[in-house]
Amino acid sequence: MDLPKLAIAALGGTVSMQARNAGEGVIPTVSGETLLASVPELATLARVTVETLGLLPSASLDFDFLLSVLSWAKFQIRQGAVGVVITQGTDTLEETATFFDYLWDHDEPLVLTGAMRSAAQAGADGPANLLDACRVALAESSRQRGVHVVMNGQIHSANAVRKTDSLALQAFSSPVVGPAGMLMENTVNYLRLPGRRRILPLPQLTTQKIALLEASLCADTLLIENILELGYDGLVIAGFGAGHVGASWVEVIETIARKIPVIVATRTGSGSTAQSTYGFTGSEMDLISKGALMAGFLCPRKARILLWLLVGCQRQDELARFLVQN
Ligand code: GLU
Repeated sequence: MDLPKLAIAALGGTVSMQARNAGEGVIPTVSGETLLASVPELATLARVTVETLGLLPSASLDFDFLLSVLSWAKFQIRQGAVGVVITQGTDTLEETATFFDYLWDHDEPLVLTGAMRSAAQAGADGPANLLDACRVALAESSRQRGVHVVMNGQIHSANAVRKTDSLALQAFSSPVVGPAGMLMENTVNYLRLPGRRRILPLPQLTTQKIALLEASLCADTLLIENILELGYDGLVIAGFGAGHVGASWVEVIETIARKIPVIVATRTGSGSTAQSTYGFTGSEMDLISKGALMAGFLCPRKARILLWLLVGCQRQDELARFLVQN
C-alpha cells in the first residue's frame, strides 16, 4: 500500500534533551532521527521525512528562525506531505503555535508537540506525544483546521492553548473552550467544528519590537514611561481582571496609544477582557476611551505575537478587526 508522506522537524526542547554526564542538567542533544527511532510504529502509518532544524531550548527560538521553519514546512507540503509535525520545547509552544497559525495558509495540518519529561527520564512522554501528533497530522479530519498543539492525548487549537503548569505531565489546557479534540484508542477525534481562522501574509519587516508589560499592585511607571523613547512599535499590557490597570498608568497609556498600538489583555490566565462594564480610572472603558484596544480572549503573549505579525506586514490599522471574535 502506498503510505502517505509526512514531514517531521525537530527544533529542540525537553523532548530532545538528555544529560551528557550523570549529575548534569539536561540539554537539547537528541536529533529528529533519534526521536523518530523511538516510534517504530510510525513506519506502518507513513513515509516519513525527518530533519533536525535546531537543537534549542524553546525560550531561545526567535521569529526569524520560526519563519525559516515555516518556509521548510510549506516546502514539505509542496513536495506532497499530507501534514507536518514540529517538535519543540514546551515553554513557548503557546506562542509558536499562534505564530504559525496566523501564517499557515494550507489545508494540510501543521501539528506542534513536545514533552514534559526528557528523553532519558522514566515515563518520558516524548514518543507518545510524537506518535499522537503524527496521527493528528495524518488524519483527514485535521484538514482545514490550521495549527494544533498535541500533548498528553489532547489536541488543542493554536489560538486557545496555554501552558498552565510548569512541570506536570498535563501541562497544557485551553481555558474556557477546552481541547479541540483528543486521541482515543489511537484514533483522532475532534469535539467541535473548526473555528474561523485569519491568515496574514508573511511579514516583510522582522525588526519590530513589541513590549509586553504586566500590571501589578502598586506598580511604578518607570518602564512604561519609556516605551516610546525605547523605540517600541507596539505595547501589550497583561492587565488586571477584565483588562484594567492602576490609575498611575492611565495617562501614560493615553500618550503611548496616540503613537503606537496598545492592547490590554487579561493576566488572569482565563476568560475575556470586558468592553463596557467598568467605568473607574484604569478600567477597560477608561482605557478604550484613551485609545487602547481590548484583547478579548487572546492571552497577552498571543496578543503580542498578533501585533508583531501585523506590524511586520504593515497592517496594524486592522488590529481592532483581528481582536474581535478571536
Ligand atoms: N519544559 C520545557 C520543555 O518542555 C523546557 C525547555 C524548552 O521549552 O525548550 O521543553
